[in-house]
Amino acid sequence: MTEGISRTERGKQNMRVTLMGAGTNVVLFFIKLAGGVFGHSSALVADAIHSLSDLLSDLGLVFAMHFSSQPPDQEHPYGHERFETLAALATGSLLAVNGAGIGYEAVQRLIVGHYGMPASWTLYIAAFAIIAKESLYQITIRVARRTRSAALRVNAWDHRTDAISSVIVFIGIGGSLLGAPYLDSVVALIVALMVLRIGLVTGWEAVQELADRGLSDEALAAIREVILGCEGVRDLHLLKTRKIGHQALAEVHLQVMPTLSVSEGHQIAERVRIALLRQVDELADATIHIDSENDEEGGVVLPPRSEIEKVVCECLLARNLPLTEQMTLHYLKNGVVICMRYHLPPAETFASLQDMETRLQDALQGRVPGLQQVDVVWQLPKTPTAQ
Ligand SMILES: [Zn+2]
Ligand SMILES: [Zn+2]
Repeated sequence: MTEGISRTERGKQNMRVTLMGAGTNVVLFFIKLAGGVFGHSSALVADAIHSLSDLLSDLGLVFAMHFSSQPPDQEHPYGHERFETLAALATGSLLAVNGAGIGYEAVQRLIVGHYGMPASWTLYIAAFAIIAKESLYQITIRVARRTRSAALRVNAWDHRTDAISSVIVFIGIGGSLLGAPYLDSVVALIVALMVLRIGLVTGWEAVQELADRGLSDEALAAIREVILGCEGVRDLHLLKTRKIGHQALAEVHLQVMPTLSVSEGHQIAERVRIALLRQVDELADATIHIDSENDEEGGVVLPPRSEIEKVVCECLLARNLPLTEQMTLHYLKNGVVICMRYHLPPAETFASLQDMETRLQDALQGRVPGLQQVDVVWQLPKTPTAQ
């Protein structure tokens, strides 16, 4: 959990640094593309496409940050984040095609042995890209540490990868200028393969997400730990998650003490839900089902209250026994436990109460379907208030 800064402040800081990264990528894309085309460096063109891939992933992140706060509507009850997944699929395909295209051209140039000589000023562009990207890495990783945003941390490391990519481009152009003209195309091929890989990974992740893939084992372990740390939770089963955009939804069954009231069970579920949303960054929502026992292998369906009440009523009347004030039913795996509450009759002895209890139990035993146990609770009559 993040102490010190609020969720909204975290969101603002994340958004600011992401927009800064996106702005830098726009500038770098155009400078590199222009430099590559007019300065005859295919390595720089490949690096421009790399910047474009970063720009598209930045836009995906901005989109996610903006729309994750958008409430679900009637047509999209699970929110709008799947649009982001579709965008990622399109982006991934686009990058893969571009990476393959640039790589193919580089290979062709290497086979034919016909290279253009890059202009010396293209070196400055590569140097500028290295400095810009390394600075962005430093700024972004600092914000990511402060806000503990996993997505932003990934983004920061991507900036550093870009800086390294531009270092390779710098070496390629420098090498070409120093008399090894093929180096520019070799570097173009390397960077093109990087772009191809980014495209394939992005596309594959999106496909997995569309197929309702769950969270990683580590994330599941973290969720289990948070749930089991909540008061009143005895155990959990059927924990399921699925990713939607940058966030995930969880479903889980909790086991609580079987004799708890419905409202107390609901309170436990609410506390667990709030704890999960606070402590597990990826989770956007959790659906929690309260169980009295582990019903993973399917629960037993026992007769409803109306049927039980009818039989109990008949049995008690047949034996001339008093009807209960209040009946609580506990449906457990082995059967129903009926808890009957009576006002304590005046001037009764302990022995007569015990006798009454036995007669009530005898009257119901074997008559109520699925009956496991009958408990009788005696309640003191309310003392009349002095007037
Ligand atoms: Zn509820
Ligand atoms: Zn269950």
